[in-house]
Amino acid sequence: MAEQLELDSFMKGLIKRNPDELEFHQAVAEVARDIVPFIQSNPKYAEESILERLTEPDRILIFRVSWVDDDNNVRANRGYRVQFNNAIGPYKGGLRFHPSVNLSILKFLGFEQIFKNSLTTMPIGGAKGGANFNPRGKSDREIMRFCQAFMIELSRHIGPDIDVPAGDIGVGAREVGYLYGQYKRIANNHTGVITGKSLTTGGSEIRKEATGYGCVYFVQEMLKHAGNSIEGKICAISGSGNVAQYTAEKLIDLGGKVVTMSDSDGFIYDENGITKEKLAWIIDLKENRRGRIKEYAQEFQVEYIQGKTPWSVPCDLAFPSATQNEIHLEDAKTLVKNGCIAIGEGANMPSTAEAAEYFLDAKLLYAPSKAANAGGVAVSALEMSQNSMRLSWDWEELDQRLQGIMKRIHASCVEHGKQQDTDAINYVKGSNIAGFIKVADAMLSYGVT
Ligand code: NDP
Repeated sequence: MAEQLELDSFMKGLIKRNPDELEFHQAVAEVARDIVPFIQSNPKYAEESILERLTEPDRILIFRVSWVDDDNNVRANRGYRVQFNNAIGPYKGGLRFHPSVNLSILKFLGFEQIFKNSLTTMPIGGAKGGANFNPRGKSDREIMRFCQAFMIELSRHIGPDIDVPAGDIGVGAREVGYLYGQYKRIANNHTGVITGKSLTTGGSEIRKEATGYGCVYFVQEMLKHAGNSIEGKICAISGSGNVAQYTAEKLIDLGGKVVTMSDSDGFIYDENGITKEKLAWIIDLKENRRGRIKEYAQEFQVEYIQGKTPWSVPCDLAFPSATQNEIHLEDAKTLVKNGCIAIGEGANMPSTAEAAEYFLDAKLLYAPSKAANAGGVAVSALEMSQNSMRLSWDWEELDQRLQGIMKRIHASCVEHGKQQDTDAINYVKGSNIAGFIKVADAMLSYGVT
């Protein structure tokens, strides 16, 4: 009862200090539910108000981004960088360009990033940034001008030992190229200040595959721990961007049958399974032709379901890889009813609080995003290492390192997520506590800062 009261009063205070930031409240509540009881049994963290300090960003930068579109109109967007916590290393986290971007979304993402980055065991702090800019329908030149304008301001606040951004929704290889080109021009400095770069400009092998592959490696570990495997499993994926593409690739490699992919307009259902050849067609559609997923249905004569997410399709494994809060309680119930045994969250916080609770109660293998999609930032940290050393590791070496990192994250989740009276692992609790300890101990060592 006392635990509940303290959690309640902590959350009430947080909500009061950050009104209307619903996604941020959701992300903190999900962590606090596990961390408050942990702190109660480890009072050194309570005495130094670690959770109160950890939920207050180090700083938030908000800036105007002015640029000129192809019709010569002057346009203005809002840019952000939330530098959340650098206790264990330079700020690190992606940039998102999407019309929905606001402070609440970036604070939730930056907060999650602290725990995720800690879990990787690499020395990187947590941050997130982006703009309410909609890349959809923009020409290449417009994208370039926007990225350049965005970097004019951001360049003042980043550096290889200060803050190292990367991509996220709407920021892929093309945008990272434009952003880094502008940084290099302003700073007159060719340095590892952004990750996800192309191989010709200092990028790392396996970075583009890392989030999707890492998520599948994590689910593979959960299944192995439970005496099962990916071979022969029917897999539903949402999204068709970077994370979804390489989740699909690795699942196909490991003998899974991928039957769905989606974009924000709807999803395709390919009952026979998306093959490597069909996936190459999707990657070309999304990366080069900038088309819509419904074109796949026309090309390969399969079902296209407009305006819906794929969670009604019967599957063994589900990989939400599009955006936050894309699995609602009803979707969670449908997935469980249809026999789904594992969820690998490629996207950040794709399950609503109610859906996540339902998965935990149903005791299926539920890999929360901060553990499941940490492979992307882990390889970004390896890109930073390679940039600092001025050398490049090869693909096989990096794939081995990625697999090792995902296995270690899984082992930490098992260690801290064991439950009383059941063999089931609570991966949410495991990832929250394992991620918290390293950051909290570093904060303790600095004194009151
Ligand atoms: P991309 O921009 O490459 O792809 C995003 C995909 O999700 C697209 O298919 C897009 O469809 C769809 N999508 C985006 N927003 C919405 C929405 N509001 N509703 C429905 N569909 C949507 O992004 P990524 O693949 O990089 O990122 C996907 C998720 O993975 C995000 O949650 C991101 O934070 C997370 N993530 C990404 C990492 C990375 O390394 N890239 C690392 C860790 C997490 P459409 O084209 O129609 O917009």
